Amino acid sequence: MDKLKRQITEHGVVVSDQVLKLDALLNHQIDPQLTMEMGRQFAERFRDSEVTRVVTVESSGIAVAFATAYELGVPLVFARRKKTLLAEPDMLCERVPSFTKGIVTDILISREFLSPDDRVLFIDDIIANGDAARGLVKIIERSGAELVGAGIVVEKCFQPGASSLREQGVRLESLVRIASLADGRITFAD
Ligand code: 5GP
Repeated sequence: MDKLKRQITEHGVVVSDQVLKLDALLNHQIDPQLTMEMGRQFAERFRDSEVTRVVTVESSGIAVAFATAYELGVPLVFARRKKTLLAEPDMLCERVPSFTKGIVTDILISREFLSPDDRVLFIDDIIANGDAARGLVKIIERSGAELVGAGIVVEKCFQPGASSLREQGVRLESLVRIASLADGRITFAD
């Protein structure tokens, strides 16, 4: 997506050689037109997968997941994040480290919104080490639903998340791939 690449080049702030701040388009401010275009892209790529639910993790994945779910005409379910977990028997829960916050949180989805009949498309904003995605994959597995794939807006190729999920057999599609953030510069992979 050339427009997305241009926006990242123009507005992305390289915080370190590991972290790219994308507040202007993904994590604080949202461009509705661009977000709907991302949703169309994911919907096109997974159109034949008979998706019944789109799933993401709050909060930054919600906008693009909404756009994707809208295009596919299916509901969006977002996993909630909590710092501690009291006994909630109807909730599927996984504990995951947060890449940006440096803390561990629980992500939860109610069994009511994920069933063995579902074919799930996971959507998220950025993939780094893949902890959030792996947690979500485990929740989807435990619900009995089938994961048809993952759509990620920004794949940081120099961190292991995307490749480890692909090695696990997950069909992972990203819109933009970043090869490096070294020397304060954003280098795209293609
Ligand atoms: P992972 O679990 O793959 O290590 O990290 C994924 C989550 O951490 C994403 O949902 C995203 O919100 C956040 N994240 C990871 N890397 C970055 C980054 O470089 N910039 C920003 N803004 N968020 C990131």
